[in-house]
Order: sequence, then C-alpha cells, then structure tokens
Amino acid sequence: MGGSRRFKNKSCVYCVNGISATGDHVFPREIFEVEDRDNIPKVPACERCNNEKSNLEHYLLSVLPFGGVHSNAEKNLSIDAARRLKKNNKLQTSLRQGMSHVHHPREGKEQERRLGVPIDGNKLHKFSEFVCKGLLWHHWKCLVPSEYTVKAFTPSPAGLEFVGSLFNMNTKCRINANLGNGTVRYKGSMSEADECLSVWALQFLGGITITDESQSFVFDHSLVAVLVGPKRVVGEKWARLCLTPPI
Ligand SMILES: [Zn+2]
Repeated sequence: MGGSRRFKNKSCVYCVNGISATGDHVFPREIFEVEDRDNIPKVPACERCNNEKSNLEHYLLSVLPFGGVHSNAEKNLSIDAARRLKKNNKLQTSLRQGMSHVHHPREGKEQERRLGVPIDGNKLHKFSEFVCKGLLWHHWKCLVPSEYTVKAFTPSPAGLEFVGSLFNMNTKCRINANLGNGTVRYKGSMSEADECLSVWALQFLGGITITDESQSFVFDHSLVAVLVGPKRVVGEKWARLCLTPPI
C-alpha cells in the first residue's frame, strides 16, 4: 500500500512508548460500505496495540450491527455479522439469550420496537478510548501524555448534559465528522491551552440501543462519551456521570 512508510517507526499513538509497525485504521474498515473505505483516519500503531484493538473490533463488529439503526447496520447484520457469528457459537448463544425486543417510548409518537443488544460495555468503552487517542493524533498530531487519563463512558442523562456543556469550551480545535454517510459520527473539542485535554462523543451505526441485564435499563442516548485530561481533572467525575458500571 502506498504511503504506509508514513506510519512506520513512529511513536504508537495508543501507548506512546511503543514504536509503530504499521498504520492502523482508527475505525475498522469492515464497518463501512466498500465505497466508503477510502478516507478512514489512519494512525501509527505498535503491534501490541494493533492486536489488542483488533480483538475489540472483531467483537464489536459482531454485535454492534444488532443494535444500530443505520441502514448499514442491517447490511452488516445480514452479511458480515452473520458470517462472524457462525464461527463463534458461545457469543451466538449469549446474544440469543440476552437479546430482547424493547418498547421504546418516543414523545408524541407511537412506541417503536427495537432490538436491545447485550453489548459488553467495557469492550465498547475500551475501543472508544483507542479511537479518541487515534483521533487526537489524526486531527491535531497530539500524543496523549502518560499522566493523562482517557475515560470512555455511556452517559446518564445528567452525564449527557455535563458532556454537552464541555463542548461549549472556548476553543478553535473542534471537529465534527460524519464518515460513510452516518456509519460513524464523532465530535471532539480540545482545549487550546492544554493540548489533549478534550471531550468526545462517538456514535456508531446511527446510534445504538443497549440493554443492561443486571440493571434492566434501556440505553438510548446512542453515543459513547470520552474525556481526555490530567487524572486529577477527569478523576472521578466521569464515574458519577455514567450509566454503566465503571470499567
Ligand atoms: Zn502501542
């Protein structure tokens, strides 16, 4: 592939200490339609991080399409996910057991019937943390310093309000992207004074409905929020704002 040297022998954007062996697509190519695969952000990654991330992607590509509302979700569901699930009986069984139709109250509208999917939130969050490190480098060439923490969470309504307020920070470093016609959307704001201090919202496949068996809730905020900053700033704040249990 042309230009791949660009991503070799650099600091790995995910762990910073590792040296990159290759360029990693921040979002897995397979989530997109073939014609939308050309402009996916790519970043230098070491082999270890690359492997760890691709394991998470493998899992998420198998389950996310079941909960997405984007038209790609259906296609993925019928083709890619079905193929993967065939190879993974254990996952298939747990999905079948955990999946349920949820009735979705919507203001002024009839209830919408949606499929709730028991997604392993930790894996979705861990993946989202990788993604934000990748995006910080892709957009602003920032490497997250080791004393910084990157925390992804599924926001509660109060958390969502808080995250929304963070996007109002006064900065020119803003990005609002839509890849593959809504297959992936993300929004990020980074402080100008404090490089890497940033807030992110990620949405996959047009928003996902997630059910949590243990708490029997239906999550429909459709996004994952990520805070990046010095440990003392991000600290415990995020923990009080998330709906799903801390990682
Ligand atoms: Zn690495």
